[in-house]
Amino acid sequence: MEHKKLFSRARKVIPGGVNSPVRAFNGVGGTPVFVEKGKKQKIWTADGRVLTDYCCSWGAMILGHAHPEVTAAIRTRAAKGTTFGIATPDEVVFAERLCSLVPGLDRVRAVSSGTEAVMTAVRLARGVTGRDWILKFDGCYHGHSDAMLVKSGSGVLTMGASSSDGVTKGAVADTLVAPYNDLAAVKQLFAEHGQKIAAVIVEPVAGNMGLVPPQEGFLKGLRAITSKYGALLICDEVINGFRFGFSSYSALYGDVSPDLLTLGKVIGGGLPLAAVGGKRKWMDQLAPDGPIYQAGTLSGNPLAVAAGLKTLEVLERDMPYSRMAELGSALAVGLSTLAAENGLPVQCQSFNGVFTLFCTTSPVTDLTSAKTSDTKLYAKIFHGLLDRGIYLAPSQFECNFISSAHTERDIDELLSKFEAVCRTV
Ligand SMILES: *Cc1c(COP(=O)(O)O)cnc(C)c1O
Repeated sequence: MEHKKLFSRARKVIPGGVNSPVRAFNGVGGTPVFVEKGKKQKIWTADGRVLTDYCCSWGAMILGHAHPEVTAAIRTRAAKGTTFGIATPDEVVFAERLCSLVPGLDRVRAVSSGTEAVMTAVRLARGVTGRDWILKFDGCYHGHSDAMLVKSGSGVLTMGASSSDGVTKGAVADTLVAPYNDLAAVKQLFAEHGQKIAAVIVEPVAGNMGLVPPQEGFLKGLRAITSKYGALLICDEVINGFRFGFSSYSALYGDVSPDLLTLGKVIGGGLPLAAVGGKRKWMDQLAPDGPIYQAGTLSGNPLAVAAGLKTLEVLERDMPYSRMAELGSALAVGLSTLAAENGLPVQCQSFNGVFTLFCTTSPVTDLTSAKTSDTKLYAKIFHGLLDRGIYLAPSQFECNFISSAHTERDIDELLSKFEAVCRTV
């Protein structure tokens, strides 16, 4: 079926024709792609094309699409009932797995989306500290709960303004915004308002302004300053967790122990499943043992837990991380080299198999520098590659993901097609 026709039908019954905004291709123009099926690193579109997929459901499909073992686990579980509203043994196993794999994770609660996990972490931080303010970083995305939909004010160190209509001034009045990687700004905010700040929330490796790694000392600095002022450190690892290695980023690479941690995407194995966890003294303040409320009809959903557990099992057995990282760095070097040879102002920033083609030559360390990118050039590259059978993120400010199903041939294919695109843009 033609995508144009599908999109026009979709627009009549779904706002903007999509169930999540980035899918509408507003960042790159043109008609969005509709997918009918996926297998490994490939997706089949509704108009009959086969594409190599570098979205991988924003990293959730770390094993590639329709992994046979994950599919079998889902099928087996589905036949036994998919939700009860009653505790199940496997959610205990799932929590035990996460707590044993992530140092510092004493307790964990399963929820159905990253948005929910963050919303709970923020409520918990406020509840246990008795403070209202939250400090987040410009360009980091933490789901679509009201308090997180904030953009930086005109001055860098001002309270944020809402980045969405329908979010009250009150809902964001307690959210401060600082530039990512700017420890000096964080220190200044704490010096002025330290006693009011309940928590700092950060994506250890930022993935929602394109891929932007933390600079040396940034995360450790956040840990030190939050501890000093009695605020909590929340690491939002909805993308990071189990993506760069078989644990949290903060434990494996960041060398920091957050008070609260959110997980999502990878741990759900392609089903709606996320988690919020952390130190016992904080987590035990959640209902029913504590006074901070949180609940969910489908929380710890058996079907999702089956997919998540199987994904973790396969990751642990196959340990695809170093291979994904090797493919990712070969790709990043190749793309940056080809861009330079062809005189394009494009650099590939990557970390362990996650990458963004930034259409700028300035170093990208935060949202301001990410925004120096030429988004029109990105759109041309995106469409040039899409025409040639490659699906990249349909926005300059998102990450691309290599799965364990991607091969060296895929990397060579992307490089040769990118070279062809370079000559046309
Ligand atoms: C995707 C994402 C979320 C939101 O998760 P949903 O499951 O889409 O609600 C939160 N935080 C980060 C860092 C994310 O990448």
